[in-house]
Amino acid sequence: VKSPERKIYLNGRLVSKEQAVVSVFDHGFLYGDGIFEGIRIYDGVIFRLDEHLVRLYESAKSILLTIPLEYEEMADAIIETVRANQLESGYIRVVISRGDGDLGLDPRNCPRANVIVIADVVRLFPEEFYENGLRIVTVPTQRNSPASMNPQVKSLNYLNSVMVKLEAARAGALEALTVNSQGYVCEGSGDNVFIVKRGKVYTPPTYLGALDGITRHAIMDLCEEMGLPLTETPFTRHDVYVADECFLTGTAAEVIPVIEVDGREIGSGQPGPITQQLLSEFRKIVRQQGRRVFS
Ligand code: PMP
Repeated sequence: VKSPERKIYLNGRLVSKEQAVVSVFDHGFLYGDGIFEGIRIYDGVIFRLDEHLVRLYESAKSILLTIPLEYEEMADAIIETVRANQLESGYIRVVISRGDGDLGLDPRNCPRANVIVIADVVRLFPEEFYENGLRIVTVPTQRNSPASMNPQVKSLNYLNSVMVKLEAARAGALEALTVNSQGYVCEGSGDNVFIVKRGKVYTPPTYLGALDGITRHAIMDLCEEMGLPLTETPFTRHDVYVADECFLTGTAAEVIPVIEVDGREIGSGQPGPITQQLLSEFRKIVRQQGRRVFS
């Protein structure tokens, strides 16, 4: 999306990037008070748009935030933005902040949420990592507990993930895994994690502390269709080290093989066959599941 023509949806209007501004009193800015979604469009099909919308409205409900649009109006706003930017393939960011208030924490002083939709190009891991796999690490920052702000809420407070990303970078890695306070593996900074052992696929239950990823669900559905046994079960770093395969899933990341964790080669040290199969099936279904915006 070239910046001069770029149109951003802001509270019911499509405006230029320069006009797309919110107040410094917006509680999304002051407190990270708000929610968001990251969505992909592939050749004119918004992948699993309804799942993203359901998660958005569930996040809003959880933090007592009123989205000033009905569900279908929100879908229309997203589709309108995509069309205005002629974005046939790319990334869509939806942001609902609590809105303008005062310097106090209390969101009851924010009369109306701000609704923003940005259509953008995708920022992916370079293609070579899909072929050769990622080397990742585990990091000191733990996934926050579901007893705090629940990781299921895709809130604007992403500092936990930001720290994970920085710690990964300091260890020379592009991504990292977090564990929870019990030492169970949770997820990456912006993706879910799977391992494969003796032909079986495992992913942590989200109650340990992980976002219930839309891509995670797509992979679970694919496992079922492909007859691959899949279990949601807690596992530790050790289980990852001794797995045959490991991969990460996410809207931006899609399905990306992991070949090394904390200096331990995973399996053969090459992207595993089940990972590769899931990646290639995933890239087929993304144009089939969702709402078609361009015909
Ligand atoms: N975990 C976190 C913390 C994320 O930010 C994301 C990206 N939304 C994911 C997992 C993957 O979720 P999805 O497949 O819905 O993009």
